[in-house]
Amino acid sequence: MYVRTLTGGLAAALVVSLSLTGAQAVAATPDAKDAPLAARVFTYDASGSAEFKSAVDRGAAIWNESVDAVELRPVAAGQRANIRVLADDGWPRALPTTLGNGTVYIGRQAVNEGHNTIRISSHELGHILGLPDRKPGPCSSLMSGSSAGTTCTNPYPNAAEKAEVEGNFGGALVGRAPAPRADVIVD
Ligand SMILES: [Zn+2]
Repeated sequence: MYVRTLTGGLAAALVVSLSLTGAQAVAATPDAKDAPLAARVFTYDASGSAEFKSAVDRGAAIWNESVDAVELRPVAAGQRANIRVLADDGWPRALPTTLGNGTVYIGRQAVNEGHNTIRISSHELGHILGLPDRKPGPCSSLMSGSSAGTTCTNPYPNAAEKAEVEGNFGGALVGRAPAPRADVIVD
C-alpha cells in the first residue's frame, strides 16, 4: 500500500515536471545507479580456451553488440574474472553460479562433429547471462544450440533472446537477486 502510494506520487511528479521548467524536471530524475540502460560489466577470462580464444572473443563481442544491459569485457591480467572460459575434450557446457558468473567449457566433441565455434561460444555465454536451452529450435534461435544442426552457424541471439537478457539485467540493478540456476547446463 505504501509503495503503491509512493509510485503514484512519483508518477504525478513526473507528469507535473513535463510542464514545468528544466530545473524541476531534473529534480524528478532517478539516481544514476537506478538508470535502466547502464550496462553492467562482467569480465571474462579466455586464457584457458586454447584454440577457441578468438571465437570466445567474438561470442562476447556479439553479446555486446546485441544488448545494452550487459557488457562482457576481457579481464585484466592478474584479476579474477566473473566468467572463466576453458577448452576441453567433452561436450560444450556452462556452469552458471550467479547471474553473469560461472564457467564455460568449449568442448571439442561438438567442434569435431562440425558445430560452429562462435555459435557455441555465444550460446554458452547466453547461459551465463541467464538463458535456458530452447530445443529443438530453429537456427535463428541461439539457444536452440546443437538441435539446429551443424549447418547452422548463426551466433546471434534472436529478438526474444535479446529481450530476455535485457530483462535479466535491466531495471533496478542494485540488489537484484540472482536467477535460480541449474548446476550444469550441457550444450
Ligand atoms: Zn545450451
